[in-house]
Amino acid sequence: IIRLEGVEKWFGKFQVLSAIDLRVAAGERIVVCGPSGSGKSTLIRCINGLEAVNKGRILVDGIDLTGGRRSIDKVRAEVGMVFQQFNLFPHLTILQNCTLAPMRTRGVSREEAEATAMKFLTRVRIPDQAHKYPSQLSGGQQQRVAIARALCMTPRVMLFDEPTSALDPEMVKEVLDTMISLAEEGMTMLCVTHEMGFARSVADRVIFMADGRIVEEAPPQQFFTRPQHEKTRNFLGQIL
Ligand code: ATP
Ligand code: MG
Repeated sequence: IIRLEGVEKWFGKFQVLSAIDLRVAAGERIVVCGPSGSGKSTLIRCINGLEAVNKGRILVDGIDLTGGRRSIDKVRAEVGMVFQQFNLFPHLTILQNCTLAPMRTRGVSREEAEATAMKFLTRVRIPDQAHKYPSQLSGGQQQRVAIARALCMTPRVMLFDEPTSALDPEMVKEVLDTMISLAEEGMTMLCVTHEMGFARSVADRVIFMADGRIVEEAPPQQFFTRPQHEKTRNFLGQIL
């Protein structure tokens, strides 16, 4: 459902992504890890058209992201994104955060959008927070709202960029549990995370990036027990 072919990306003269080839099948769960600055966020941002690539191409569900504005909009409609900073609208209630995009971009009625929002807020176990504002919620709750908000657009793919790294330790688990249940429901997921427990139990494949390249790619069992590349071993040595 996601296909990257020979993707390269520069910021000025600095090459952030080099020769990235990646295929993600529908229902697959991929964890992306790697040192700071290796290009993980840039990769994720390219996949939903937040950044344009300089070379190669990216297809999501058969739609070519290099095909201009209209194809970018089509891809965004299929891709949900959750960031490290929750990026909720502070002046809107939780419910309004969840209904805004479906009403604006899908022409869904308020009634229907609210019903859908409540369904997903219930799924992330915070229906009782619907009428509060983001600042009145804990970080873990805000991140679960961000996930529910993305789900309200019925995405076919979910992208996560370090969704738990801004959270206090005691809130990490509630967000990971939400992601695990999403994985169990068969959602296609590409997650940048250093939560190796999550990678072990949920990922079909773990991708390790360094210096803008995919250095190693393996099922978690193999990735953690027999990392092939020295850079991978160094990285695992530092975080485990
Ligand atoms: P981290 O683990 O710290 O989040 P990352 O793997 O997500 O790192 P990226 O954010 O993708 O790394 O950044 C990769 C490189 O590109 C870094 O060297 C960064 O400084 C650079 N970079 C990222 N965004 C921009 C930008 N908008 N303009 C210029 N350089 C950028
Ligand atoms: Mg990043």
